[in-house]
Amino acid sequence: MKIDYLIKNGTIIDGSGDARYEADLLVNGDRIISIFKKDQKSVKIHDKNYNLNDLSFKNVIDATSHIIAPGFIDVHTHDDQNIFIDRSMSCKISQGVTTCIAGNCGISLAPFDFSGDVPAPIPLLGDKDAYRFSSVSSYKNAFNESPSSINISLLTGHSMLRVQVMNGEINRSATKDEIIKMQNILENALIDGSIGLSTGLAYPAANHAPTEEIIELAKVLKKHDGIFTTHMRNEGDNLVESVNETIKIGELADVRTVISHHKCAGRSNWGKSKETLKLIKEAKKKQHLDLDCYPYTASSTMLLKHFVERADKVLVTWSDKVQDLKVNDINKIAKEFNCTIDELVDKLYPAGAIYFQMDDEDLNRIISFDGTMIGSDGLPGDKHPHPRLWGTFPRVLGKYSREMKLFSLEEAIYKMTFKSAKTFGLEKRGLIKKDFFADLVIFDPEVVIDKATYEKPLMPALGIDTVINNGQIVWQSMKSLNIYSGKFLEGKSFN
Ligand SMILES: [Zn+2]
Repeated sequence: MKIDYLIKNGTIIDGSGDARYEADLLVNGDRIISIFKKDQKSVKIHDKNYNLNDLSFKNVIDATSHIIAPGFIDVHTHDDQNIFIDRSMSCKISQGVTTCIAGNCGISLAPFDFSGDVPAPIPLLGDKDAYRFSSVSSYKNAFNESPSSINISLLTGHSMLRVQVMNGEINRSATKDEIIKMQNILENALIDGSIGLSTGLAYPAANHAPTEEIIELAKVLKKHDGIFTTHMRNEGDNLVESVNETIKIGELADVRTVISHHKCAGRSNWGKSKETLKLIKEAKKKQHLDLDCYPYTASSTMLLKHFVERADKVLVTWSDKVQDLKVNDINKIAKEFNCTIDELVDKLYPAGAIYFQMDDEDLNRIISFDGTMIGSDGLPGDKHPHPRLWGTFPRVLGKYSREMKLFSLEEAIYKMTFKSAKTFGLEKRGLIKKDFFADLVIFDPEVVIDKATYEKPLMPALGIDTVINNGQIVWQSMKSLNIYSGKFLEGKSFN
């Protein structure tokens, strides 16, 4: 019998949070077919015993002094369009990521049937040509015809529903009729394979939506076992109120809920994570409530006045109006343009920025919280992106686990694999287990670290040796192999 891969001499951290162990494993097709101890003479494959000497292997990977883990799951991405633009998805596979959840923060490339101007933050996904998927089916088909090197799952963005149903009149709450229309589009999206609903209540496209509007939409999720994720209404002065609003939505709609990129934004709100995590811990006793975060104290999104006001420092990274704009501090650019900050924001819009506005202590507390998942929130369309796009996962492994010792490597991997697969309903992913999909990363635990910085954000991380997606090597020796084995993953609850 000829097997595709023997991965030998490595140490397995299986994604469950359990302690590491030494074992070899066999991969055939897109699955892990056997895990066995080094000294074993025979292995069981599909319920039959084989003498190891009778098996041959197309490829043998020596993982001596390396960790073999499930491929990482980036639960918070804006890769909706990136999977078509850069099919190698190097920014993610170079980190060991094999699955991305797209459609976050209320914005998803599908379903969207609208040709007018779009409000912030929708332009983050791309320019007008990008909006070509009126249904999740058409998006799924396009991906299946031309897949990338990672798996993709898609949330349905609340802002997309609003803009198309309300015909761009977003500065009000939706009427009853409009809510029914949005519910219908959402229901079809879920039937087509979307895994849930996301909101971006902090942004112009959705900040006029009252809590009731979200509850009515989230109720649709219940029937299809979809998930609700939220970039909350406020992550600064009204952070605690926003966490309470999220808990209320999850409770009244009775849906699995995830607080996206949890943070305390703005110096006057530092320390509030003590209270928010207490609220979350309490709520978890009666409902499914989870959270994700990225390992940096600066955020990044479009350049918007109310975000500029609360940040200590703002770097402007791109502008559609001023194409040759050099990345620089907003104050320096305003001086160059000889105008006020407010005038500058209007002049540059649509534009992007990095906001330095969080405290290390809050971040350490949030990322260490039991079950916090890891999501990069990277913006691949940005010419000078936040370093989280290329650095998030190796940074959690190298800095937060190995150097700062905030949690064990086993726990770090749990936060980026099985916890995420369970929460988002990704069947047979996120664990190294027989019959599970062979999404794997082999890395050096002593070396792994992010290299991307605010100055040089496009640097691949170190220490990620081999990345396997659905049984095929997609990244090796710091290079993409341009193998496009990714699948469109539809959600399914298996809690
Ligand atoms: Zn967001």
